[in-house]
Amino acid sequence: MKTASIITTVRHNIGDDFVREGILSVLRDVAPIQQIELIHKHSPVTAVYGQENLRNLRISRVSDPVFRVMRSKNRITDADLLIQSGAPVYWCHPNLAHCANNEWFDPLIKKRFLPDRRGRKFLNIAGGSCQTYHSNGIEVETCLKCKAYIAEFFDACDLTLLRDDLAKKMLNIAGRDADVLPCTSIFARDYLNIAPKKGEYIVVNFMENGGHYTFSQNIDAYKWRKNFALIVQKLQRHGRVIAACHTSSEEKLAKEIVPDVETYIVPNEHVAFMNFYAAARFAIVNRVHAGFMMASFGKPAAVIGNDSRALMIKNLNLLPHYVEDVDGALIDIMIDDLLAREHTYRDEVEEVRSKARSAYVEKISTVI
Ligand SMILES: [Zn+2]
Repeated sequence: MKTASIITTVRHNIGDDFVREGILSVLRDVAPIQQIELIHKHSPVTAVYGQENLRNLRISRVSDPVFRVMRSKNRITDADLLIQSGAPVYWCHPNLAHCANNEWFDPLIKKRFLPDRRGRKFLNIAGGSCQTYHSNGIEVETCLKCKAYIAEFFDACDLTLLRDDLAKKMLNIAGRDADVLPCTSIFARDYLNIAPKKGEYIVVNFMENGGHYTFSQNIDAYKWRKNFALIVQKLQRHGRVIAACHTSSEEKLAKEIVPDVETYIVPNEHVAFMNFYAAARFAIVNRVHAGFMMASFGKPAAVIGNDSRALMIKNLNLLPHYVEDVDGALIDIMIDDLLAREHTYRDEVEEVRSKARSAYVEKISTVI
């Protein structure tokens, strides 16, 4: 296999970097790939060589069709294998947001890849859902647009592997089916050869309202801020606590709520974050992929969230919690559970990682 092009994000969200590095780790077990090309999905024109810095969607929408007409050299045409990497791929929020309207499928897949398929394989790996926390996926049933899109996307792929059970339910509603495996971010450490280190500190992480969006759920932002302060205070009895901040706004917020909290931030440097998580003890986080990365190093994590992404941590035998359910008593339970598993979770997750890797390799081997 000469070139694999990956639909992902670039210098945008380290969670996406973790997932992608994990996919590359699994691919290395399946087939040698000489060249990896990245496409920043939020600006599809980055598929065109030389346009990597054109990261504005509006400009992308105007310029990409021009590059198509000009037949400019690009990463979709050059791909021997095309991969959609991780991220929510199915979401449907009436009057708010629909996965059918995403920015990348039409320009990259419908306009570039499918008309020029040449038997080339397209894999959707570690895609997930992004619904309200308690959703059962039924939103797709009444949204004909998303239902049709989910089926069309599935049919365009040679293989779909999902990372959470709700995504599977949504796919089922669209009349298709796929297996669920733990998110590939747990293999990123293998690809980059980063080993777990002795745990030195406890990690926390704060996002306003407990997640990226609220999706009109009734979430008390003030209550979650107070609970975050309580989590830090309770954890500090057990050792050094550091707030991992994936963005500078997260750091600002964490400091605003707990002024003396120690923070860690190296924007968009996923390898730095991996090394940071490798030397931690355990975590209570909003960022799902902070939880996944910690867990991959054998450090247990509790994920507090407000959307269905948080639920995928269950695939690692760890517990998610709805942000509105958090109170002092639940925080104590979380901390006790993490302390109890601090030194035993590593064996548990190694079993999960080993089984998941075999399953990914087996599934991908059947199509490439
Ligand atoms: Zn929809």
